Amino acid sequence: MAQIYLDSAATSIMRPEVIAKMTQYMSELIGNPSATHALGRSSKSALETARKTIAKHLNASSSEIIFTSGATEGIHWVINDCVDNGVKRIITTRIEHHAVLDTIFAIENSRDIEVDYLSLNENGTISYTELVQLLQKEDCPTLVCLMHTNNEIGTILDIEKTARLCKQYQALFFTDAVQAIGKTTIDLSIIDVDYLVASGHKFHGPKGVGFLYKRKNRFLKTLFHGGGQEKGLRAGTENLHSILAMTDALTLSYQNLAQEQEHLKKIKDYAISELELHFPGTKINSYPEKTANHILNITLPFPEKKASMIVFLLDMKGIAISRGSACQSGSNQPSHVLAQLLNKEDLKKPSIRISFSYQNTLEDIDALCEALKTI
Ligand code: PLP
Repeated sequence: MAQIYLDSAATSIMRPEVIAKMTQYMSELIGNPSATHALGRSSKSALETARKTIAKHLNASSSEIIFTSGATEGIHWVINDCVDNGVKRIITTRIEHHAVLDTIFAIENSRDIEVDYLSLNENGTISYTELVQLLQKEDCPTLVCLMHTNNEIGTILDIEKTARLCKQYQALFFTDAVQAIGKTTIDLSIIDVDYLVASGHKFHGPKGVGFLYKRKNRFLKTLFHGGGQEKGLRAGTENLHSILAMTDALTLSYQNLAQEQEHLKKIKDYAISELELHFPGTKINSYPEKTANHILNITLPFPEKKASMIVFLLDMKGIAISRGSACQSGSNQPSHVLAQLLNKEDLKKPSIRISFSYQNTLEDIDALCEALKTI
């Protein structure tokens, strides 16, 4: 059975060029980057070149990039550390990824910390007026923790404006940019973000590798003690081959950015028009404006009883899709994001997140519509 992959926001398929390069790195770069012999020095040099390349894509300095095992690690690290270093209040939303929400929840239950959840507009955007009101409210060390692009509905935050407001009121700004890196340019020499996280497998790199950006002079204490890697912040032999492959994947994403985004927009527009044509009453939960081109969330006009089975039924037809974020796909609970945005009736209906990559075609959308007709 042909497999159609429409779940790129959960994880993306590695670019064949990246797999080829990674295989080469695995056979050629054999030294431990901390070893002082020639083989170790070659690995170290490749590692530091990768760091410089990633920094360059973000217009940052290489000393501001720390390699991690992925975004979840970076999120946990930054939020906990900020609280350890005196943050007394976190401003966030209820539609962040669970890595953020659950980390904050754990801290809220164990520490003396206030958490303010911003209210949301219908399309998942925040109210900047409310953000300013909260920032003005009290003189309290604050971390603003807002994702760049929502992984379920694709809503995009104005990070430039958010960063400006955070600076104006001396709050720290941390953004989860997992669904944005490699899909849009982010110039950190202009946008005053303090911390940012990314994950390699979301932009056609390997899984289990990512990076954390920490602006110069912002605090971050050691996560792992040991060998002194990552400037003593995160000991342990670096995941070299994955780091290099992730870097190649990011470079290719930025080299092909304009044409791939145009392709994604075409697929998304086509999907919206075909779904509305074949399934009148389909509700588009990802607004056409201010949402990422690779994410389309819809509520189908199908009976409620199909809600929990839809992913399984599409899977039986060879179509890989999610209901929301991948970590919740086995759950029968409605998505925590849609729960904030839809009315009770719509929330009971089947909703799916269709997420695309440069590898998808319009025919994939035709196949999805045909499969949905049989459900
Ligand atoms: N943040 C967002 C927005 C995500 O989409 C994901 C992955 O689904 C994560 C964080 C966690 O990334 P990882 O599982 O690679 O650590």
